[in-house]
This record gives sequence, C-alpha cells and structure tokens, in this order.
Amino acid sequence: MRILVTGGCGFIGTNLIRFLIKEKGETVINFDALTYAANVSALADLEAHPEYTFVKGNISDANALRELFKRHQPDAVIHLAAESHVDQSITSPDVFIQTNVTGTYNLLQAALEYFEKKAQEDFRYLQISTDEVYGSLELDAPAFTEDSPYRPNSPYAASKAAADHLVRSWHKTYGLPTMITCCGNNYGPHQHAEKLIPKVIACCKKQEPIPVYGDGSNIRDWIHVGDHAEALYAVLQRGRIGETYNIGARNELHNIELVEMLCDQMCAIAPAKQSYRSLIKFDLDRLGHDKRYALDTSKIVNELRWGPKRTLLIPLTSCVPCNLQNREY
Ligand code: NAD
Repeated sequence: MRILVTGGCGFIGTNLIRFLIKEKGETVINFDALTYAANVSALADLEAHPEYTFVKGNISDANALRELFKRHQPDAVIHLAAESHVDQSITSPDVFIQTNVTGTYNLLQAALEYFEKKAQEDFRYLQISTDEVYGSLELDAPAFTEDSPYRPNSPYAASKAAADHLVRSWHKTYGLPTMITCCGNNYGPHQHAEKLIPKVIACCKKQEPIPVYGDGSNIRDWIHVGDHAEALYAVLQRGRIGETYNIGARNELHNIELVEMLCDQMCAIAPAKQSYRSLIKFDLDRLGHDKRYALDTSKIVNELRWGPKRTLLIPLTSCVPCNLQNREY
C-alpha cells in the first residue's frame, strides 16, 4: 500500500511510520507542517529509505492537499496531524480549531475529490481520534464503548469530536470510505517533553518539582504507542467502513499512581539521596479536568483479533530502598 500519513513527524506518527515501513514493508508519504511538536530526528534513519517520502505542508492549505493526492496517489490516508496538547488548547484554542477542525475538513475534501476521480474501491481514510471525545466517566461507570455519546469537555477534545463528526458525515453523505479510531493515552519513545511521562522523567533527572494537577486522583487509560500502531494497521486492513474502533490496553491508572511509579523506577535507575517522590508538587487543578477515561475495547479485540502486547505495569521490587508505601485510592 501507498499510505499517506499526516502529522507523521509527531509522537505517534514517527512510531507508526517506522512500523509501517520496517515491519510491514509499506510505502509511506509523510505530510507534516513541522510545528513545535514535530521530531524530525526520530525518522532520520528513514530519510533515504526508498519507501519513505517526506512532504512539508500544512493541512490548512487546501491546494497543497489536492496537489499531494494528485502527485502521490495514495491507497490510504491515516490522519494524525493535529494540535494535541490539552493545556495549550485551554490557553490558545484558535489553532486547535484551525488545524483539528478546518484542517480535517480540507483533508476530507481533497480525499473525496481524489477518491471520486480514481474510483478506487479499496481506498481508505482512517481518522485518528481520542477517548477524550466521550467526556468524563464516574469511577464506577462502565468503560466507554463505540456507542457512547460524544461529550467533549476541553477545547482539544471538542475540536477532535468536531473533526470526527465531519468524517462520519463525509462517509454518510458522500460515501467516502472512512473509519475512526479512538485511543487512550499513549506512551513510548519520542514523546514530546510537554506530556506527563517525559515531564516526570525530566523533572526527576533535573531534581525539579514534579507538577501534578489537583490531588492526582484523575484516571487515564494508558497504551504503548507500538500497540497503538499495530491496532491502526489492523483497522486499516480489516476494519469495516463507516465504523469506529476503540483502541486501548485496559490499563487505568490514577495520575499520582503513575507519577509515583515513575519516581520509583527512576530510583532504581539513578538512585538519589532522597526519594524522587519528594519532588511531587500538587498544583491547582486543570480547568475542566476530566475525572476518568476508560475504553471498552471488545469490538477491536473480537472483530479484528487485535490485542496489546506491551505493559506499563512494571513490578516495583526495585523501590525497596525508598521503603515507600503505595497510596490507598
Ligand atoms: P503530536 O503533537 O506529537 O504530533 C502532531 C504532528 O502533527 C506534529 O508532527 C505536527 O508537526 C503535525 N501537525 C500539527 N499541525 C499540523 C498541520 N496544520 N498540518 C500538518 N501537520 C501538522 O501528536 P501525537 O501525540 O502524535 O498525536 C497524533 C494524533 O493522535 C492526534 O490526532 C491526536 O489527537 C491523536 N491521539 C493522540 C493520543 C496520544 O496519547 N498522544 C491519544 C489518542 C489520540
């Protein structure tokens, strides 16, 4: 397949492109505007690869997108390009609307024009979305299914939800063969320093305060980016047109649990005089902070026979020197 990946220089994109080319032998055209979130060096070893092409461009530019489809004739699109940081969406929502909503609209229009001209039956458009579109869950509520209503709470989540609705309507109205995936919090190599796990590790290394929102009791559902990449490939290959698939590893953790776990792992790797946990500093809560996300993944597991292979939960035998108790939740 010739796969057009938008936002391929970001965290998920770099991992996905490596997987597609190195493990699946696919051809990838990476279209990325190279915003602050891009990490070009993460793909440096693929620059000269015959199956890899990089095109610098912005999904806000409808003409550039039309030209892109015409020149590269992709068999599929995986749309990752987005503004992705919730905190920034609270302080500067404009660019989130511009990129995540209008950019997706431009991409859908270009894809539809191309699809109609080419009349290529097996063309696919895959929209990468987030569990945040479903809103917040109570502690005892069942996990979100693909039929859960959209109730986004942050400007980021609302912009992603709006984009998903456009995708759905381009399928229902114009017949574009689309699919949507909703995934939980990713972790793994090449994640931007602004995100929770890299931030905690950096604070430990620099012996700086580790900021935690509120009391740290908010719950997120974590998945390794490698598992996410494999799930996206499964959906692209075997997913049903018009469907949404939740992608997750059933790995719910309170934020404070995760932060303490990372502190303890850092203790094992680079022991310090004091436990890294002493660096934790509880901050004012994030505006509109969702309490809990959790995804029911039975659809992708049963229908596409996909499952996560990696785990975040490392046994903490290494933390004995700290003699720390885990919290009660
Ligand atoms: P990221 O912020 O690390 O990377 C985004 C990439 O998109 C960057 O390379 C950036 O240069 C590019 N980009 C931004 N605006 C662009 C524009 N206007 N035109 C072209 N390229 C542009 O994001 P990520 O964490 O890799 O997430 C990728 C996608 O997956 C996003 O759509 C995000 O909403 C979704 N998602 C992410 C997570 C997660 O935990 N990271 C979870 C679920 C869904």
